[in-house]
Amino acid sequence: MIDPKCHQCRHAGEKLFLKGARCFSPKCAIVRRVGPPGVHGAKRKRAGSEFGVQLQEKQKVKRSYGLRERQFRKYFETASKSKGETSAMLARILETRLDNIVFRLGFSGSRSQARQMVGHGHFTVNGRRVDVPSIQVKKGDVVAIRPQSASKKIFTDLRAILKKHEPPVWLSLDKENLKGQVEKVPGYDEMEMPFNLQLITEFYSK
Ligand code: SF4
Repeated sequence: MIDPKCHQCRHAGEKLFLKGARCFSPKCAIVRRVGPPGVHGAKRKRAGSEFGVQLQEKQKVKRSYGLRERQFRKYFETASKSKGETSAMLARILETRLDNIVFRLGFSGSRSQARQMVGHGHFTVNGRRVDVPSIQVKKGDVVAIRPQSASKKIFTDLRAILKKHEPPVWLSLDKENLKGQVEKVPGYDEMEMPFNLQLITEFYSK
């Protein structure tokens, strides 16, 4: 049976990296070239209209960051009201969520795992315990694994895993002390977005 998360990738027709290490292994459903879900999945035509392409891109981003429509729409509205370019602002809002930062720092294998870990109170921001994955982390903020949590089973192999991990340039990582810092407000290119956020702007602007 196909995992529900892999099911989302099959729908999108590409990797959304929702399952940590498995996504980089030959077990990945996309690597195994499993087609779209459903009995007629392989025969189903992909949305080719302008609207279909925009909708598909929006769904990919939402699934990748694990967001519901309401929250995603709220992020878009905030981005469109801010001074900068909407796509760049939307990317920044998504990337500076606490769960994403935990993922980018390499403390989790996927965003969904990061969300769960944050929800269980395993992290601090500037020394204070937080359990809200959606909070926005700002320049200068320090995200760390709580000392009480560092000995837990989920973090046992983390130092070894982090040896090979390089965070994006706008974050710094202290691999020994299991903490990271937001060094700067990330520029659009620095976020290395694999999505076309312009399509999403067009989708909501209709
Ligand atoms: Fe599953 Fe990850 Fe591959 Fe997506 S990228 S199909 S979540 S293993």
